[in-house]
Amino acid sequence: MQHQKEIIKKCIDQNKLLNKKKLTIQTFSNVSIKLNKNFFTIKPSGMRPEDIRIKKCPIIRINDGKKVSGSYNPSTDTPTHQILYKKYPEINSIAHTHSKYATAWAQSGKSIPIYGTTHADYWKSEIPVTNFISKKKLNSNYEANTGNLIIETLKRKKLNPLNCPGVIVSAHGGFCWGKNHTDAVKMSELMEFIAELAYFTEQIKVKKKIPQYISRKHYERKFGKKSYYGQKN
Ligand SMILES: [Zn+2]
Repeated sequence: MQHQKEIIKKCIDQNKLLNKKKLTIQTFSNVSIKLNKNFFTIKPSGMRPEDIRIKKCPIIRINDGKKVSGSYNPSTDTPTHQILYKKYPEINSIAHTHSKYATAWAQSGKSIPIYGTTHADYWKSEIPVTNFISKKKLNSNYEANTGNLIIETLKRKKLNPLNCPGVIVSAHGGFCWGKNHTDAVKMSELMEFIAELAYFTEQIKVKKKIPQYISRKHYERKFGKKSYYGQKN
């Protein structure tokens, strides 16, 4: 029980962090964190993180998306998170944001190309944009099908959730995730910074695009089989 309380508190803190880092305005965003392999907690619908009470926070079963406790209504995007947790057991936190530059790219319908090593340090290739959701899928469980759309996008691009820690949903915004509880917000911050850099890069106009051997090197030295970035545990 103590463990559960601590994770819910962490989830509220991560939701607060999105506002602090200016990755969202008002109540647009949501962060969820897994409690264990079967359940996760998520921001309640339409609430400011400062007003959330731990006791009332929703706990959702990953297998079927049912709320098993908490009196608050969970975020309307809960089925998107549930579908992603179910498909990818390796991820433990998810954040959805409408941050300015990432959302501008989403509205342009364009994936964010790799223009430099800042991007390549975390995303192995472009930050992909999804296709538009079909009318049929929107009319039958829109939010769950948004999760399916993200999964299809990764599959189509031959990526996985670890070498592509976030995608942008067409005309909507970003979804980011990671192995650790704090990764989803960290990746949302990186996505926004990369989206801003890419926007300015296109304004200046690209004369020489980064060769793949350089971008690949940056990804591999951090996450490859022979990675050597950071400290050994
Ligand atoms: Zn949204």
